[in-house]
Amino acid sequence: MTKLKRIPLYVWILLALLLGIAYGFASIFFGINSFTVNWIAPFGEIFIKLLKLIAIPLIFVSLVKGISDLGDASKLSGMGLRTFFLYIISTVMAISIGLLIVNTIQPGSFFPEDKKEEYAESFKSDVLEKSLNAQELEGQGPLQFLVDIVPENIISAAGNNINMLQVIFFALLFGIALIMIKGKNVKLVISFFDGLNDVILKIIDIIMRFAPIGVFALMASVIVDVAGDNPANSVQLFASLGLYTLSVVIGLLAMMIFVYPLFVTLLTKIPYLKFLRGVLPAQLLAFSTSSSAATLPMTKKSCEENLGIRSEVTNFVLPIGATINMDGTSLYQAVAAVFIAQTLGIQLDISAQLTIILTATLASIGSAAVPGAGMVMLIVVLEAVGLPAESVALVYAVDRPLDMLRTAVNVTGDSAVSSIIDKNSGEI
Ligand code: ASP
Repeated sequence: MTKLKRIPLYVWILLALLLGIAYGFASIFFGINSFTVNWIAPFGEIFIKLLKLIAIPLIFVSLVKGISDLGDASKLSGMGLRTFFLYIISTVMAISIGLLIVNTIQPGSFFPEDKKEEYAESFKSDVLEKSLNAQELEGQGPLQFLVDIVPENIISAAGNNINMLQVIFFALLFGIALIMIKGKNVKLVISFFDGLNDVILKIIDIIMRFAPIGVFALMASVIVDVAGDNPANSVQLFASLGLYTLSVVIGLLAMMIFVYPLFVTLLTKIPYLKFLRGVLPAQLLAFSTSSSAATLPMTKKSCEENLGIRSEVTNFVLPIGATINMDGTSLYQAVAAVFIAQTLGIQLDISAQLTIILTATLASIGSAAVPGAGMVMLIVVLEAVGLPAESVALVYAVDRPLDMLRTAVNVTGDSAVSSIIDKNSGEI
């Protein structure tokens, strides 16, 4: 028993992930998908719900605590500016890498002609729903995104996991007001938040004990969902989208192999392999949940416990990163937009590609940190360069696996930036 206790959490999660995949395939093979859906999948759902449950309280309390620990407004604005700058730089680099790869490989030119109609038809209803969501975002003025960040009612903003930016806005306002007031009454509020923070961390600890079961169930149901009752059909779908998938995967790997090592090695004291091992639990959880918001508790835990990043930094940098910094998502959006243009035989000139850089940066900031959000915002990128919203159907079939991968990259980016912001990271 004690030996089992010594096995680190990430090993359990990795085992659960592999077993879940193996079980998913076995479920298809033995025809027990309905058993899997009824008796296994609910545990994955419960796990995701628990993670979502803690996301808003965690973001609010950790931001307020992060700011009150900093203690003065000039430190806050310094850290805020550096964080924002790094987030934007890494996003623009991700998009540029995506564009470079998709323009070099040209996956769209190999897409089978007869498949276009078939895809457009089979994903019609899903796409219609997604484009309605995206349409709400269009036809609005250029400053609408700023208007949307400001909540008019904090309860309704916090009542919906999609409005994380509004919760962040209120938390920042609350934290700033807290450090501007000096006095006895405020000390009480500060120590209240300190206590609340400890309680939330304990809740996260409890939820994480459930992680291996949750991850197993999530992986099993993803496999059954994607391959379903017709595995041959899924293999065919994947084959015709193979080069596109490969382009996204190469791009994401380039982030992990070139960009983050460059950032981490040059700007922190942490050796890159140690960094990777440290963030592995968060990457695995991001891969299984496809949600950076749901992964936030684990990202925070990994950054603090494995990389020695101070909680003053993670409390501030990570909740904001989970919400606005999505390197993997922005890279995917760039590759997908150009791939779709290539498939439709439309040439995107340099100004269209620059538009992609701008809109994918904004779209990834605007994407909620939940499964599939990147694809909804992809529609905004498509329309910005004059491509039809319905054409998102072309990439729909492989969205889930790519979502899993890009979310893992998203949380890696957030962790890399935290390790840079904390000058003493690595000293555990
Ligand atoms: N699932 C991603 C995340 O939560 C967002 C997306 O690309 O769909 O980070």
